[in-house]
Amino acid sequence: MRLSRYFLPVLKETPGEARIASHRLMLRAGMIRQASAGIYSWLPLGFRVLRRIEQIVHEEQQRAGHIPMLMPTVQPADLWRESGRYDDYGEEMLRITDRHGRDMLYGPTNEELITDIFRAHISSYRDLPLTLYHIQWKFRDEVRPRFGVMRGREFYMKDGYTFDLTRDAALHAYNRHLVSYLRSYERMGLQAIPMRAASGPIGGDDTHEFLVLAETGESAVFYDSAVTDIRLGARALAYDDAAACRAVAEEFTRLYARTDETHDEAKFLEIPEARRRVARGIEVGQIFYFGTKYSEPMGAMVVNAQGERVPVHMGSHGIGVSRLVGAIIEASHDDRGIVWPEGVTPFHCGIVNLKQGNAGADAACEALYAALTGAGLEPLYDDRAERAGAKFATMDLIGLPWRITVGPRGLKAGVVELTCRRTGESEEMSPEAAVSRVAGRYGGTAGG
Ligand code: ATP
Ligand code: MG
Repeated sequence: MRLSRYFLPVLKETPGEARIASHRLMLRAGMIRQASAGIYSWLPLGFRVLRRIEQIVHEEQQRAGHIPMLMPTVQPADLWRESGRYDDYGEEMLRITDRHGRDMLYGPTNEELITDIFRAHISSYRDLPLTLYHIQWKFRDEVRPRFGVMRGREFYMKDGYTFDLTRDAALHAYNRHLVSYLRSYERMGLQAIPMRAASGPIGGDDTHEFLVLAETGESAVFYDSAVTDIRLGARALAYDDAAACRAVAEEFTRLYARTDETHDEAKFLEIPEARRRVARGIEVGQIFYFGTKYSEPMGAMVVNAQGERVPVHMGSHGIGVSRLVGAIIEASHDDRGIVWPEGVTPFHCGIVNLKQGNAGADAACEALYAALTGAGLEPLYDDRAERAGAKFATMDLIGLPWRITVGPRGLKAGVVELTCRRTGESEEMSPEAAVSRVAGRYGGTAGG
């Protein structure tokens, strides 16, 4: 992409309404624009990051064997009357009446709709296990929408639903989700710690929230600092193997890590003092096993091997895709702007032309652009007739991990400058070396 043809409405002033770094930086970098309280348009740069996060979630869900689909945003109220949640959900639910006077709602989540699909099409244990998921906009009429996309009213969420014959099988599904979530967050350059949580309006026996540690987080968290040393890394994961999934889940949940809702001071004090941590975190996902809470009242039954009709065991599993954009920025920025992890960056590399209009510099930038594109990368070329300082400030603000700077003086010596956004370190090298260094950083993941 050439910046002269792009739409990147960068703001010079720090917007007054933004109280935390991610909100401020998303507005300044031209990623979002508020349409009304807690409702945002995703401008091109923000949309790119949203799509990259969504793509990682899709890939990791499908790697775990979960099946993508799409359910609507607007749902009939009658389904929610069956589960009893139409009244329980309260004012957070946006209720709508259509022209025929029918009660509808803008979905805050999809347990009822998916249970209805299940009961219409599945009646035998032979069709289990089943995991369906979608990534769709949700609406919750939050009392206090704030912090930009972190607590919106309209937000983008991946929600997956598991159907199993037995509690044991459902717990395998639960552990499989836990592992696939860990892997998704790691690919986004984030550490999200699974913490034992309380279940809220979804209900259920077993639930973990995934929290990104950040001072601006809305949840109080209590944990053993040793949990922050555990990584999934590049290990092979056998998602169909219940024992293997359980082992990974246990490894990550063995140590004390809880939100304030389930915090147990006596247990906390058993942690060696030097490892006790009280901090704040951002919830970026949650998994639930809730047994037959929806299948029983809504009649989602299957016939088991003994010929008896039994309610299915269900779970639901959510990732806050749009909140993650803010959470990643909270975890990764400095005083000059955003520092994107390579896994989610909107463009792989910036190109800064120090002397636009200089034939040699222009040609060298074009050649770099073509070489990076040829290597499967998406560069952002700042080809505007701006001062170098302004170009650097824009690149730092939007946070691309790598920048190649091209000027007539360097070109005379056959070199360009490659700069790492995270460390600020620069190195001179030939244009070819810069391209292969950047391409090497992204390995096989470029474009994905
Ligand atoms: P919270 O406690 O933050 O209100 P929740 O526990 O009600 O969230 P879930 O039903 O667990 O939310 O939804 C799954 C995920 O969707 C959450 O982990 C979070 O990342 C995201 N999410 C929930 N509410 C919002 C919101 N208002 N704005 C943006 N993302 C949200
Ligand atoms: Mg939650």
